[in-house]
Amino acid sequence: MKKVLILLLIAGILPWILGRCAAPRAYHGRQIMHYRLGNTDVRLIRYDFDSLPVVWFNMHDDENTAVRAARRAVEHGQLWEIRHPGGRNIRFRLHGRRYGFDPNRIYTPEGRKKTLREFSRTYSAEADSAVARFARFLIRQVADDAALVVALHNNTRGKYSVKSYLPGARYAGDAAEVHLASGTDPDDFFYCADSLLFRRLAAAGWNALLQNNDSVSDDGSLSVYCGRNGIRYVNIEAQRGHRRVQQRMIMDLQRVLDSVGLGLSQPKNLKD
Ligand SMILES: [Zn+2]
Repeated sequence: MKKVLILLLIAGILPWILGRCAAPRAYHGRQIMHYRLGNTDVRLIRYDFDSLPVVWFNMHDDENTAVRAARRAVEHGQLWEIRHPGGRNIRFRLHGRRYGFDPNRIYTPEGRKKTLREFSRTYSAEADSAVARFARFLIRQVADDAALVVALHNNTRGKYSVKSYLPGARYAGDAAEVHLASGTDPDDFFYCADSLLFRRLAAAGWNALLQNNDSVSDDGSLSVYCGRNGIRYVNIEAQRGHRRVQQRMIMDLQRVLDSVGLGLSQPKNLKD
């Protein structure tokens, strides 16, 4: 009985210790690509873990908790990170004019126009085309050949959470279903454009929501693009500084992928 208790204790404590001490995982390849947008050098850093078609994508340069968590927890596929002179938005100059945009609002024409207008002094069709080319470049890299795209984001405490999608809340119209998990922080949640993964992640005890691919508002984000194009997409949202939580979310998603075979043996765009 005593031995059993000791074993149970070790089984409970060991993962906690390993989680605390987890060092960045070894990737077998690292590649840096440069994309010239006007006068701005945007760098895309790709870490290769294995050849499985799962792409982890951090597109906001100021959301570093997500990158740290991913570097410690990702085991399959490739991790992509965008780096540029700083901040959430990307800024560039084109023919003497200054522009800015949110890199997660450029994947549809409507969203792109809106974000350029919001963060630039002036809007021009020329700048729009340059950003459209950049968006197509990113999609080719991260989404075209992926069985699953996993966006990695961080939010600020209390401003945006799974509760933002509950009936009556700001983004209620974008969600088909919302699952609140008791004993968790609502800032840490999975945003799924895929019902199979939504159900599995909710069942694993996480806050989760299912995007309504028919009614979601067109803000030009990658989730909208993937929803429209039948690409499996999940966003792992965690509050800034919640690195260990985000690591556990990444590990649990990988466990779910192992159990459904997605990314390991299933073809692209498998329908639930
Ligand atoms: Zn973000």
